[in-house]
Amino acid sequence: MRLFLNPPLRRDCVLAFDLDGTLYDNPGYIRAQEESQVRQLAQFLSLTYDEAAQKILDIRQKRAARNLPAASLGDIFRGLGVSDELIIQWRRDHIHPREWLTEDSRLQNTLTALTSHHALALITNNPKSVATESLSALGIISCFTNIIGLDDTFKSKPHPAPYRAFLDAARRLPEDCIVIGDRYSVDIEPALQLGMQGVLIERPSEVHLLPEILD
Ligand SMILES: [Mg+2]
Repeated sequence: MRLFLNPPLRRDCVLAFDLDGTLYDNPGYIRAQEESQVRQLAQFLSLTYDEAAQKILDIRQKRAARNLPAASLGDIFRGLGVSDELIIQWRRDHIHPREWLTEDSRLQNTLTALTSHHALALITNNPKSVATESLSALGIISCFTNIIGLDDTFKSKPHPAPYRAFLDAARRLPEDCIVIGDRYSVDIEPALQLGMQGVLIERPSEVHLLPEILD
């Protein structure tokens, strides 16, 4: 865990969580999400699944070789000519959180404890409907006052647009907002650049340390 906090912390910050890899860990589901989207891309480009997957791998490897930050799957798809509307529709139609996620009572308790001092929000590169279904499946939807999804800005993290949309909705100064996520360049860095604070976690179990750190 790495903290990017400016103490003393206010007791009424807004905590903006990432979803995948932050509030749950389910490698099979993460893989199924990506596979479902690669399948749609293959159809769109009239390629086989393996050819589409290879295309994505090539783009990722080229970026890494040029020391560019990792691109989101959405950004890779945009670069291949897929419209924002189609990216959102593919995710709405083919990602099914309830098939993978179940109620997490320990997470419920931790987030409920955090809500006694802070408001909770979610910023995700999935559409709002997928985010809502995920939080409902985990049994934590009632802890969240605001969800920023891909369909709010049509831009994927690390683009600053979802963070700006969050700040507008929260009506709070950036310094009163703390972003919590599992990827530095995607979740934390863009938030710090806008003047927000951040907590980088290595695994979702570290979320349970937050009440002690933040309260
Ligand atoms: Mg994540």
